[in-house]
Amino acid sequence: MSTQPAHPHHDEGHVVLVVNAGSSSIKCSVYRVIDDPKVEGGMRAIHGAGGQIEGIGVAPRVVAHMADGKLIVDEHFPVAQVADHDAAFRLLRLVLAVGLRETPPAAIGHRVVHGGPHYADAVLIDDKVIDELNALTPLAPLHQPHNLAAIRAVREAAPDLPQVACFDTAFHATTGVLAQLFALPYSYFADGIRRYGFHGLSYEYISRHLHLVAPDIARGRVIVAHLGNGASLCAMKNGKSVETTMGLTALDGLPMGTRCGALDAGVVLWMMERGMDHDAIEKLLYHDSGLKGLSGVSSDMRELLANDSEQAKLAIDFYTYRIAQEIGKLAVGLGGIDGLVFTAGIGENSAPIRAKVVERLKPLFGMEIDAEANAANHDHVSTRESRVPVFAIRTDEEGMIALHTARLLREMLKS
Ligand code: ADP
Repeated sequence: MSTQPAHPHHDEGHVVLVVNAGSSSIKCSVYRVIDDPKVEGGMRAIHGAGGQIEGIGVAPRVVAHMADGKLIVDEHFPVAQVADHDAAFRLLRLVLAVGLRETPPAAIGHRVVHGGPHYADAVLIDDKVIDELNALTPLAPLHQPHNLAAIRAVREAAPDLPQVACFDTAFHATTGVLAQLFALPYSYFADGIRRYGFHGLSYEYISRHLHLVAPDIARGRVIVAHLGNGASLCAMKNGKSVETTMGLTALDGLPMGTRCGALDAGVVLWMMERGMDHDAIEKLLYHDSGLKGLSGVSSDMRELLANDSEQAKLAIDFYTYRIAQEIGKLAVGLGGIDGLVFTAGIGENSAPIRAKVVERLKPLFGMEIDAEANAANHDHVSTRESRVPVFAIRTDEEGMIALHTARLLREMLKS
């Protein structure tokens, strides 16, 4: 990895490295960002080489490929060699050096889960930014420390390379006070205890993409369901977030792979009365609940769909019921629905889950799934007669990070 920013060639665009450091994996992707006056923002991100390390501390595996898709490496490592994120990042840097040799990045864009109340947009990282993001760790204990570890690792290796933080919360800066309030004493709201929402990079990508494929719908009232390991909904008006199901933390709203989603706060008090401490409650709510806890089988939707136990069926029923229920809730804030979009691992790929959710919404909103289009994961999965069109669109959070990073890099080079 070069310690010097590469010279920008405007006709060739900027090379940007996107880093997405999760709780057990680190993913790196190279993008070339070029001018394209036809799209919003005037820039387009083209995916190049990439690599990821998964199973950190459990069963480490490194996979990396060149821009043309050619595999550089696919190798399992002993746990002792990749026991933590620092070790993982060192290893990934070695591997990616191959893919980056000819095109050193001009900047690095990081996915950072929590931007707190102050960051309504991506930001160039300096010491002050790192301190502020560090202070937000208790609000995103599963993600924020790993995001920051990646930022620090790059700073150590390449102190002059511009780094940009792109936040999952930023897209929701447009939600109003009613969508942000908890009914606690108002001083809590003033202290930043409010709904921020997450998955914003995914929603921003979907919002832009929908403006290209269905501009009339995109200008209206749209609900987007991001259903991956984490899951949330976003209500948009004219492409801007007006409400979302996640809150102060990424625990609220829908049940997820291992997270509980919305929960009566009294349950947490009951756990405390039973003697469970903070760490035990955190582990239960973040790691052992959701689809995994309900089914006792798995957090993985593919495994649940393939399992015929009553518990697996109950977990799927509850999951789809809650998604439909929360869509109804968001529809109140929007004053109706003009379009529904499914995205992320489950939303993009699982026809049965989309069908079950839409079936529950049919009596209220007149949505109807087209079985054939749905089974084929087409972009448009509802019938012609459906009063509300339903879409399944592949999201691209990393492409969105590349665009923000290139934009801030240009602003920095201009000034
Ligand atoms: P993350 O939130 O970690 O980025 P993803 O967006 O990749 O996760 O989503 C992971 C989820 O998507 C898993 O529950 C996985 O089972 C599910 N998934 C992926 N492909 C399919 C499929 N064909 N059918 C059902 N579920 C799927």
